[in-house]
Amino acid sequence: MSDNIKQSNTLANEQVLLCRSCDKVLTVPTLSSEQRAYCPRCKTRVLDNSDCPMHALLALSLASLVMFFPANFLPLLEVHFFGSIREATVTQGALSVIDLGYWLVGVSVLICAVVAPGLLILSLITQVLLISTKRPLSPWRKSLLLNLLRTHGALTQFTMLEIYLISFFVSVFKLTDFSDVYYGVGTYSFVALFVFLFYAQREYNPELFWRRYHEQCG
Ligand SMILES: [Zn+2]
Repeated sequence: MSDNIKQSNTLANEQVLLCRSCDKVLTVPTLSSEQRAYCPRCKTRVLDNSDCPMHALLALSLASLVMFFPANFLPLLEVHFFGSIREATVTQGALSVIDLGYWLVGVSVLICAVVAPGLLILSLITQVLLISTKRPLSPWRKSLLLNLLRTHGALTQFTMLEIYLISFFVSVFKLTDFSDVYYGVGTYSFVALFVFLFYAQREYNPELFWRRYHEQCG
């Protein structure tokens, strides 16, 4: 009992934060520049006082943008079936599903595998460029940055490349039972897009962006 009271008194005197992954209550450590703090229980990054992620984030976002076009518009698969050869891209696949009447599935694929990742990449690049500007932002740039920061969470939720990849490889596994299947350039580009975007999202630190926004825009 006395231990609990002592603990709550201690917490009352210190700044605390909650780990966003496991809700562990943590006291706010004092970080010097270029340092990060991780939750001791689940190893989630809770504080970041480093500017390095800006450069890493920009590089990863640009690499994702480069991979985005071949991943979505070049063939994912080449299927050889009784002498006929069929190729398909992500976008064609989603449109074919809509044509077959499964519009909810097709639209979901288009949103989660094409539109949301594309918007997320553009949002990341724009945010980094605006935040890295040393000069004060003009009102419309300030408003753009604010809207991008506010919508970032939603875009992240709608980006589901990993689910598409898993479904894709399950379909390939089933197709190999009755046809010859060859991976296309689109497959390798899509996997690269997934890896780059995964690490870009890992490097993205919303607290740092909001802090820099308030420092720049008041
Ligand atoms: Zn945690």
